[in-house]
Amino acid sequence: MLSSKFQNALKYVVAAWLILSTLHAEAQKAWYSKSEINWETVEQPEHAPIYTIYLIGDAGEADFSKPAALKVLEGHLEKADSNALVVFLGDNIYKAGLPDTSSDERGAAERKINVQLDILDAFQGKIVFVPGNHDWDHWRPAGLEAIKREESYIEHYLDRGNTFLPDKGCPGPAVTNLTDNLVFIAIDTQWWLHKWDKVNVANEVCTAIDDDSFIKELDKVLEANKSKQIIVGAHHPIITNGYHGGRFTIKDHLFPLTAKYHNLYLPMPILGSIYPMSRKYFGHIQDVTHPRYRLLIKQLSGVFSKYDNLIFAAGHDHNLQYFAKEQQHYIVSGSGCKTSHVAKGHQASFTYARQGFVKLKYYSNRDVLLEVWVTNDSIDNIGHVAYRKLLEHPTSK
Ligand SMILES: [Zn+2]
Repeated sequence: MLSSKFQNALKYVVAAWLILSTLHAEAQKAWYSKSEINWETVEQPEHAPIYTIYLIGDAGEADFSKPAALKVLEGHLEKADSNALVVFLGDNIYKAGLPDTSSDERGAAERKINVQLDILDAFQGKIVFVPGNHDWDHWRPAGLEAIKREESYIEHYLDRGNTFLPDKGCPGPAVTNLTDNLVFIAIDTQWWLHKWDKVNVANEVCTAIDDDSFIKELDKVLEANKSKQIIVGAHHPIITNGYHGGRFTIKDHLFPLTAKYHNLYLPMPILGSIYPMSRKYFGHIQDVTHPRYRLLIKQLSGVFSKYDNLIFAAGHDHNLQYFAKEQQHYIVSGSGCKTSHVAKGHQASFTYARQGFVKLKYYSNRDVLLEVWVTNDSIDNIGHVAYRKLLEHPTSK
């Protein structure tokens, strides 16, 4: 017979294990809003798309081996024709971008970016890398130099023209015409958040140099292209159900150390809540609750709300999310090499913490088919679709 003390202890262990495994399983599951539950039955266009855009973010943590999401993306890019664009949505090199050649970290940083650059060998389409907060020297004083260094490295390595946008540390908007009817606009949201040296005096390269001119210039290019289909690419999302949006789990409150060390289940009730609560209600500069970030959201959404059928794609949180708001579509695609918690609901149509990327197929009637591709359990270069949605153009009906 087991002693009652031992039986009690066993009960607690089993209960704790059940809670943890439920939390773990929860994190692994895709979530769909009520209206999206039957996404698999959505009718797909019969004809072939005229243009395809691939969106992947936060892929800069790999070292020697290729992350699973990059393998799947490579499989897709090899088969794509030249009517395609792939966008890397920032945090292309963790943890502090590309250091200069004298740094001990330089070799590791080069390996992290080369893994991404090498999957583009057989790709015939256009390539754009957008900067993120980590690329700006971990948002520290030497950020501007780091961003210029990364731009120059990527463009030399690929030798495929202007593949890093915006140029030379400018905030953008940097406009790329993809077809007569489709335009991609890159903006650097870390420029907005950056507290240190950045481009802020008039020069020959940047069309905007301060908050006002940046927002005005963005509005101007959106207005000039309003008869076309527009996709804006940046690193920071303006709506997110991830950590940067203050969405933490019970696990984050009870076992705060697991955020950094996956298996360190050291319970710290109350004390553990200080970190997630402070990020939820005050935020650091990289969180949507921070006043400077909030101002960016207000300004960008104010401008976007004037335009039809605009897609805004970002990374930053390490998961896949889609939100439909009025006539605009908001995508978070930041699970290019790792994943972190994402909450259900809060106006989202779909959320999933799994490695993958978003694929947008543009059709001649101006409809867009959004597909979220994720890795298979047995890692391969094919993956599978976890969500699909037809974004109908207001004039196509
Ligand atoms: Zn980031």
